[in-house]
Amino acid sequence: MKRLTGSLLARLVLGYALIAVVFASAWLWSLYGPLKQAALNQQQRNLTAVAQAAALVAAHSTETPGAIARQLVARTDLRLTIIASDGRVLADSNFAASSMENHLHRPEVVAALAGQTGVARRVSRTEKQEELYVAVPASVGGGRVALRVSQPLAQIEQIAARSRRMGLALLAGSLILAVGIAILTTRQATYPIGVLSRTAEKMADGDLSVVVPTVPTDLEGLADALAALRNQMRARIEALESEKVTLRTTLDGLGEAVLLLEGADIRLANAAASRLFRTPVGGWRNTPLSAAGLPGGLEAAIDAHRMGQETYASTLPPDPTGRVLRLLVAPLGRGAAPGRTIVSVADVTELARLDSVRRDFVANASHELKTPAAGIRLLAQSAEIAASDGDVKQALVFAGQIEAEAARLQRLVGDLLDLSRLEAVPAPDAVTDVRQVVENAVVSHRSAAARKGLEVVTDFSAVQGRDVYVAADRTDVAIALDNLLDNAINYTNAGSVRIAVEALDARIAISVTDTGPGIHPEHQPRVFERFYRVDKGRDRGAGGTGLGLALVRHVVDRSGGSVTLDSSPGEGSRFTLNLPRAL
Ligand code: ADP
Repeated sequence: MKRLTGSLLARLVLGYALIAVVFASAWLWSLYGPLKQAALNQQQRNLTAVAQAAALVAAHSTETPGAIARQLVARTDLRLTIIASDGRVLADSNFAASSMENHLHRPEVVAALAGQTGVARRVSRTEKQEELYVAVPASVGGGRVALRVSQPLAQIEQIAARSRRMGLALLAGSLILAVGIAILTTRQATYPIGVLSRTAEKMADGDLSVVVPTVPTDLEGLADALAALRNQMRARIEALESEKVTLRTTLDGLGEAVLLLEGADIRLANAAASRLFRTPVGGWRNTPLSAAGLPGGLEAAIDAHRMGQETYASTLPPDPTGRVLRLLVAPLGRGAAPGRTIVSVADVTELARLDSVRRDFVANASHELKTPAAGIRLLAQSAEIAASDGDVKQALVFAGQIEAEAARLQRLVGDLLDLSRLEAVPAPDAVTDVRQVVENAVVSHRSAAARKGLEVVTDFSAVQGRDVYVAADRTDVAIALDNLLDNAINYTNAGSVRIAVEALDARIAISVTDTGPGIHPEHQPRVFERFYRVDKGRDRGAGGTGLGLALVRHVVDRSGGSVTLDSSPGEGSRFTLNLPRAL
């Protein structure tokens, strides 16, 4: 702004000064020249008048030419010279005529002797100064002479010099005035521009809260444009900021780690990246990929594919900690962002585990189904042979075995169906009356227990006279209880099976205790796995599907409860369902 004002000031001052000089010079020139000329003309006319008057006096005078000359110009600054027709100086009011040279060739004298008025202007050889000469024809003592009157021009020169000095002073004065006015008007004119300019500078520095000042009318357009620009910039920046926040929030909301690479440098990393690789958010900004400390295999895979043309997707082999990562490298390449790459890394360890569990389950289930199916086929063929041999008794034995295998198959299919049912989303707000579901389960198992001579005891003493409801699906609880009672009766050869219900603060505990063989501690953590059996041959023979306790665990997981096992070999087992109490 200073530079702008400075140059404007200089230009305005120069302009004003030029105008002042031109006008003052023109004025001086138009005044000074004619003035001097008028003075000269006037002097010339005066001298002519004096000369003519003197010629008249001299013609009638009887005095000597010397006396005439002296008397005529006495007490004036005029000089009077009488020159004979041969150029001789007859008399001079100021000098001795005898000492003066012949004046025959002086132009004014030449004209006067020729009968005209002669005028000349030159430096006098006698007076040694510039003089104005006027000579007229005259007669002295009957002889024709030239009567010349002269006067020094010093006076006119003095007047001219004075007026020149005054003119110059005037010029200087107008110059100073012009400069002063220029400075003042420039200051006044540029002040609002300066204010607007400072406002614009503040905006350029990022301060968009500035208030555009009120300025004179002719600058209002500029001020309005500046205010509009500021508002637009503010709106744009706000929009950009909010877009940035939205983008950041979206990125941070992603479950997958996302990195934006520029060349081999990390420009951006989201919150999931810092969680996955344990780095503070933003800690990777502008860090070379090689310095980020990513697992070796991951870094190598990113590096190998970041300059590629195609998107690369791959699930990497488990790292030393057993983590399985799925990597996606998408070069943004060509166009808007050359050399930029989007990398997304997802921790798929759990997915990979579930996948392998599912594969194992399908293999196990197929195997479990295959065995009774093959058995049934074999037994049916044997029964057929026995029947055709007429051995009805043997055929009946095979038929009984077929029925047992079919029952096992049915149980297995039933358990598989239960399992798939339990994998569906549970019904919300389900409430189950524990007393009722326990009594139903006992009723349906009583005959099986009686066949083995086992006593089934239910114990509601701890919840006497109180309603006992759990926040779980009725069928779920029935499945869990059926499986626990099945196992208790199946694996117990003598004694009893006892079901007790207790109400604890926020949960209901339903325990099934038997007097069976118990479970060795080494098997206890695994009995809830699918198809896990403690003694494969014996337990399968006992009719178990290997899915019972897996179903129990599913039930408690779904309802937010838990299942515990207390057992030691030879001392029976106690399974306890802990289910959330319904209020
Ligand atoms: P299964 O259908 O074979 O009983 P489960 O999943 O119900 O399968 O049980 C897994 C294994 O745990 C059984 O094979 C058995 O060895 C053991 N088990 C379960 N309940 C009892 C129990 N009450 N007493 C002793 N062992 C049991």
